[in-house]
Amino acid sequence: MSIRPRGRQFFNNPGPTNIPDKVLRAIDRPVLDFLSEEFLEIHRACFQGLKRVLKTEQQLFMYASSGHGAWEASTANVFAAGDKVLMIESGYFSESWTMMCRKFGLEVEVMESDWRHGVDPAAIEQRLRSDTAHEIKGVLVVHNETATGLSHPVKDVRKAMDAARHPALLLADTISSLACFDFRMDEWGVDVAVGGSQKGLMLPTGMSLTGVSEKAMAISAKGGGAPRHYWDWREMKARDPQRFIGTTPVHHFFGLQASLALLEEEGLDAVFARHARLARATRAAVRHWGGLNDTSDPTNGTKPAQGERGPNLTAAINGPELYCRDPARYSDSVTAVLAPEGHNVDKFRKVALERFNLSLGGGLGPLGGRVFRIGHMGDLNEPMLLGALATTELAMKVSGMPHRPGGAEAAVESLAKD
Ligand code: PLP
Repeated sequence: MSIRPRGRQFFNNPGPTNIPDKVLRAIDRPVLDFLSEEFLEIHRACFQGLKRVLKTEQQLFMYASSGHGAWEASTANVFAAGDKVLMIESGYFSESWTMMCRKFGLEVEVMESDWRHGVDPAAIEQRLRSDTAHEIKGVLVVHNETATGLSHPVKDVRKAMDAARHPALLLADTISSLACFDFRMDEWGVDVAVGGSQKGLMLPTGMSLTGVSEKAMAISAKGGGAPRHYWDWREMKARDPQRFIGTTPVHHFFGLQASLALLEEEGLDAVFARHARLARATRAAVRHWGGLNDTSDPTNGTKPAQGERGPNLTAAINGPELYCRDPARYSDSVTAVLAPEGHNVDKFRKVALERFNLSLGGGLGPLGGRVFRIGHMGDLNEPMLLGALATTELAMKVSGMPHRPGGAEAAVESLAKD
């Protein structure tokens, strides 16, 4: 590719996401002593603000790590080797979390699903009812499966657990949902909420967090869980007000303070509504590219075929299509698009990036080469999204991926009505 891109890169990866100028400016300042009152004031404000985003009044811990660190913290504090947990299968990220748990010696039972529809909470209830000895210590669910653009209803998972009168802990990965769409840690009875800095929080990668219920905290405090040090909630709590093991990454906190201010200035509900609007417009474009005349979100989706599970890469039509097949579960932060049969998305993504300076996400794990992902989370507005969708279409045309032209116009129509 010989064309040298000019102007800003349009960054539509589903994480990391665009970092707002205000956040960049906030980080661009001299260091502070992490134990100084000047910094601790910022630190306190960040904890309070982040708890409002998580919608919790319980415990919160932050780490200098990517989301994987918070994953480790989430299980190391409450589960010991040999404990059994139930993982709700959603795709690449539920598989990665499963792999991590198994490396720590946990016995992971995977509640299998067709990745294009996800798991039915009724099946979770049924499984938990059958666990009369309460061997299952935790139910783990990825709220927004970033690899497939499918969101599992955490609230309904809690309802299923309560209906089965099961005492397991509920762990939810909110890495690509937090500050993008509704999540309510306390109201939904989530015991451990895992989050990361580089998606809805619009920060650089490298800070992660866990919201922790008093029930989960008590397990950790009584010495439950696995051997741990850096992730140890007891140690962290004992170090109040620093609440951190080692040197606090003060610049991440400078950025967090600014991003929380942006979220509060817009209002969380308005942030969610903006994400939903941009997501609907993206789906309208994809449906149009796939040749569908009705580009609005249908009210109910196709049901998985009997016994269907795993990635399921069968494209129904000879054009791009939405990977997620259940409209009730469409993600408001990322749309995964299944390419038409026989078309590898890597060439198309290379054209988008190298020729037109548009960065899109690729397919992960078994979806590699067949799926591309349009991130629409974080610091994004209508012109940015329309630019990205029009350029996606341009890259399809140039790279020879079959599609019906006019998807960007379908997005305009969707936004105009929304
Ligand atoms: N969980 C989900 C849903 C994710 O999207 C990601 C990363 O994209 C992770 C976990 C892992 O987080 P990290 O890459 O920050 O370690």
